[in-house]
Amino acid sequence: MATKKVQDLINKNAAFAADNYGAPPDFKFLLGLPRHTAVCIISCADPRLIPEQYFGFGMGEMPVIRVAGARVKDSLRSLLVLENALGLGGVVIVHHTDCGMTHLTDAGLKASLKEKCPQNAAEIDAMDFDEITDADLQTSVKKDIKFLKESPYFSQDLVVTGMIFDLNAGKVIETIS
Ligand SMILES: [Zn+2]
Repeated sequence: MATKKVQDLINKNAAFAADNYGAPPDFKFLLGLPRHTAVCIISCADPRLIPEQYFGFGMGEMPVIRVAGARVKDSLRSLLVLENALGLGGVVIVHHTDCGMTHLTDAGLKASLKEKCPQNAAEIDAMDFDEITDADLQTSVKKDIKFLKESPYFSQDLVVTGMIFDLNAGKVIETIS
């Protein structure tokens, strides 16, 4: 089944490439843009929401990081790479209603992993899945904003904006900064 899905991807990609694909500028172009103007979107890995769609932007416009729950700690490696290469002017963190990370728990995820790999129990205990326990999502968004604002690795002027996205409405319903 997975093989068929992969083949579908390859077929769709061939059609995409054949349909007036315009190659983007090379990497040097990105490096030549003014530093600290790039804005990175952090969104959930959930396939039900796609930042390029809900914010309406296309290729070459904005970097996007998609991780479970759109948690900042999990995004840090990529953010640091972007900060180094481009200099970040802003980060937009989008947490969403009905997020899988509000349905799962750290304890449950760890128990499941320990069942699979009991020999790794100590390593699993040290993991942090950053579950979202707050029903209205404000706490998790504020926590992620604070984490970034307090990080010494980014410009003091980094503009960090948190958003709560209503999955049913397809709309940002609250902005927190
Ligand atoms: Zn989610």
